[in-house]
This record gives sequence, C-alpha cells and structure tokens, in this order.
Amino acid sequence: MGIAEEIKQITANLPEGVKLIAVSKFHPVEAVMEAYDAGQRLFGENKVQEMTAKHEALPTDIQWHFIGHLQTNKVKYIAPFVAMIHSIDSLHLLIEVNRQAEKAGRIIDCLLQLHIAHEDTKFGMTFDECRAFLQDRAWKQLKHVRICGLMGMGTNTDDMEQVDREFASLQSFFQELKDSWFKDEPAFKELSMGMTDDYPIAIRHGSTFIRIGTQIFGERNYNK
Ligand SMILES: *Cc1c(COP(=O)(O)O)cnc(C)c1O
Repeated sequence: MGIAEEIKQITANLPEGVKLIAVSKFHPVEAVMEAYDAGQRLFGENKVQEMTAKHEALPTDIQWHFIGHLQTNKVKYIAPFVAMIHSIDSLHLLIEVNRQAEKAGRIIDCLLQLHIAHEDTKFGMTFDECRAFLQDRAWKQLKHVRICGLMGMGTNTDDMEQVDREFASLQSFFQELKDSWFKDEPAFKELSMGMTDDYPIAIRHGSTFIRIGTQIFGERNYNK
C-alpha cells in the first residue's frame, strides 16, 4: 500500500478522539507532501534540525509534534512554531521551553514523558520522579507552557502482554494525575502512546495520540 492508502486505512478505524501523528523522521519532504495531500496534518519528528527544515519547506497549516529527546540549547529553534512537545522529562527543560515560548509570544502545549518500558534506552521520568516534579510546584509558575497530558513508549518486544501492562500502567498514572494535580485543568486530557507495532493496544488503554511512522512511510534508512 502507498502512503495515502495507509493513512486512510488507519484513520478509518480510529475511535472518536484518537488522533494520528504521522512520524516522518528520516523521510523526505516529498513523502510528507504525499501524506499531506491525503489530508494528514499532524506530523511527528524527533530531531530539531530535521523538523525545522521540514517546517520551512512545507505548508504552514501542518502541526509539528516534537517527539524525541530535546536538548535545552535547541528549544529556541522550534519554539516559534511547534504544535506540541511530547518529551518533557525535567523541570530544567520545561523552564527553557517556557522561556523560549515567552520570547516567541506563545503558550506551548507539552506532555510529560514517562519511562514505562523495560529498556535502558528510552527516555522519560519514572512515576516517582514525575510525582516529585509535580510536588515541587515550580511548574505551576510557568505561564507560557501548558501541560496537556503524558507520553510513553512501550518496550520493543514481541511480548504483547508486557506492552499491554506498560500501557495500562501509564493509563492509570494519567488518571491519578487527572484526579489530583489536574482536576481543574480541562487541557490535561492527552495520552500519547502507541506506534506501528502496538497502537491497537495503546488505543484500548485510552491513547489519544498514536505516533505512526513505519506503517505509513515504510522502513527508515538510517544511513542517509
Ligand atoms: C520513531 C518514533 C515513532 C514511530 O515509530 P514506528 O514504529 O515507525 O511507527 C513513534 N514515537 C517515537 C517517540 C518515535 O521516536
């Protein structure tokens, strides 16, 4: 199937309230344009330079979601246009996003990234680190960022029961925060989880943003 057909097939079966982010990292602007022409508007990238270059080359009504590890010294390049940053994993980073958002005259939507996978390689806070982050209350002073929910990545494994448990744990942690810190925050409603190999499981556990690359664009070529 081509890019347009994959997008149509995925979106046709999405429950109400679940949004598709087409993860275009490592794929050229032509591929993004093909998806755009099929009606796709939300795209995900994990490198600042690549996202900035694509933003400049492509239609302005694309919503760019930053989903990779973000270094504080690079926040300034994406702050003027990024639609949402999914990968907030420290107060330090959130403070810098707030600072750059203020400079750009914006409020930037952010998700807190939680480490739910049983792998060392995935970024994010543990549940306890996140509780401590919220307890500290410093985030409450930041008026140019809006915490809209949580993001997590499941373990890259064939053991789908493990992935199921990981997504279930993030879903219940989301509920815990919703019932405590974010009770009066209607903006806190997003749960970004699920990729090509596990998104149906993520949807069963309340995902509102699925991030799909390979199924739409094919395998990535990391040698380019
Ligand atoms: C690359 C990436 C994806 C997309 O993964 P696929 O398996 O290609 O669908 C989703 N989320 C994040 C954070 C990624 O880095």
